[in-house]
Amino acid sequence: MTDKDFFTIATEHFTIEGRSRAGHETYLRVRELGVVLDIGRCPDMAIGMPHIFITHGHLDHALGIPFYAGQRHLQRIPGGRVFVPSETAGDFRALMALHQKIEDTDYDIEIVGVAEGEVIALGKAHDARGHRATQRVAARAYELLEVRHRLRPEFAGRDDIADLRRRGADVVEEYRQPLLFYTGDTDRGILESNDALYKAEVLIIECSFIADGDQDRAARYRHIHFDDIAEFSDRFENGLIVLTHFSRRYSRVDIQNEVRRRCPAAIRDRLRLALPEPFQRL
Ligand SMILES: [Zn+2]
Repeated sequence: MTDKDFFTIATEHFTIEGRSRAGHETYLRVRELGVVLDIGRCPDMAIGMPHIFITHGHLDHALGIPFYAGQRHLQRIPGGRVFVPSETAGDFRALMALHQKIEDTDYDIEIVGVAEGEVIALGKAHDARGHRATQRVAARAYELLEVRHRLRPEFAGRDDIADLRRRGADVVEEYRQPLLFYTGDTDRGILESNDALYKAEVLIIECSFIADGDQDRAARYRHIHFDDIAEFSDRFENGLIVLTHFSRRYSRVDIQNEVRRRCPAAIRDRLRLALPEPFQRL
């Protein structure tokens, strides 16, 4: 692959692959979870993934939806769910209907609207939850959670668990571990109002602007400036924080140098830049 923005970032439990540059293209794939976060222009690596999460309708994030549908049809891959902000679901369905008419074919994928706070089951092992993301168009952030089981606290320390279980006692409870939070395009409001993003094992957060003098631009276009992230640095409990969606006004080496210079100690070791090596770490 000759794409100079393509990156791969290994986290404790999964790997994030993709590219993300503001206004140009954003897609992220987590193969272990079967998900793509924004689809960009639809890279080949997205086609086999069953779950696509679209944060908002801008073309650099969402253009690839029809190609995803068409390629899955061609390759006879059944299903495929494309999650979009609920406000946009009708329009995306209408768009897909037009593509089907033009191609005289029937796609198998489903467009699924996700409202703020809505929880969607992704098979038995994972859930996704939609979150509020402020933007100039309808936008959603997404949280991915793993369904896990643990001994109910009232049975802790007992040595007759197997026996209890045999007799039909309900000794195990289900809980949800937040694995990943993806903000999509948004502004500092999400840092002010959302607690869940600070708790996920991995946070993928947009950081379109980093340089001095661009703070106003970030506010005007409703994006996040690195100063916003630095201001909240004491709150991040995440194991890893991945910055994405850098403006193309900055070169890769500029981004690395500028973030390195401005980054508070509290998050320095956990921060990764969504850029290829050797630009990922501070
Ligand atoms: Zn964008």
